[in-house]
Amino acid sequence: MTVYDLHCHSTASDGMLSPRELVERAAGMGVDYLALTDHDELSGLPEARAAAEASSVRLVHGVEVSITWHGRTIHVVGLNVDPDDPILKNGLAHNRNGRAARAERMAEELERLGIPGALEGAYKFAGNKDLIGRTHFARYLVEKGVVKDVKTVFKKYLIKGKPGYVHHEWAGMEEAIRWIHAAGGQAVLAHPGRYQIGRESTRLLLSEFKHMGGEAIEVVTGSHTPDQIPVFADLAVEFGLMASVGSDFHAPGEGGRELGRLQSLPAKCRPVWSTW
Ligand code: AMP
Ligand code: MN
Ligand code: MN
Ligand code: MN
Repeated sequence: MTVYDLHCHSTASDGMLSPRELVERAAGMGVDYLALTDHDELSGLPEARAAAEASSVRLVHGVEVSITWHGRTIHVVGLNVDPDDPILKNGLAHNRNGRAARAERMAEELERLGIPGALEGAYKFAGNKDLIGRTHFARYLVEKGVVKDVKTVFKKYLIKGKPGYVHHEWAGMEEAIRWIHAAGGQAVLAHPGRYQIGRESTRLLLSEFKHMGGEAIEVVTGSHTPDQIPVFADLAVEFGLMASVGSDFHAPGEGGRELGRLQSLPAKCRPVWSTW
């Protein structure tokens, strides 16, 4: 059986392993096809490509684009993108630009809550200073002993409605899909079960994504509970979308899913790789 893992992160965004270490770990886990999908960033791909050439892993060039959809942050994965495409590169650079200013505002919010030094602390965890994000803040708060683990930091501080959350306006959905298509890639709605928007808004999300040209949704992902998998398999079929599989691995021992350790797609799904 061919093992696909089409969603993971390296130190080029908020993962803890370098692209090379990630590919080597994936090889050890028996992954055949691995997509590196760093947030708003392609810079990890050349190192991952070189590592993959020396291993059994087939690397898929990917990216995870942050978008704002009706005021909410949603993620869209691009698979098989050309990392040299100027439209995609410029779009991602634009998305990254806002991150530094947002980080400063997050640090101010945390300072107000009695947690000083978060900006410097978060940057210390950022392998790529252009890609400072919430996970880096979370790791700092865990290191400081403010909260016991990364998951709890998000729950208490960093998600919408919590005091350390700072809204940021990312690219639009149509825009992000356009960048991915310009680069020859397929647009995949990431972890649709994670957004906590309820049934009707989830249907609207899938419907708009499909109408804007999206090709697939993640059905099997480290972010879905076992009972969400059949639900999103049905929705993928209903909306005429293909299905993808990805761990969303970030770091060993951080509580997320291990590389390649995923169940297979329900038989009714048309895999996103069926067109490769
Ligand atoms: P950012 O792009 O800076 O907004 O950070 C988004 C990242 O934060 C995601 O890719 C996850 O790695 C992490 N994240 C978001 N929500 C959670 C959560 N509830 N628990 C753990 N990590 C989360
Ligand atoms: Mn992340
Ligand atoms: Mn995501
Ligand atoms: Mn991700």
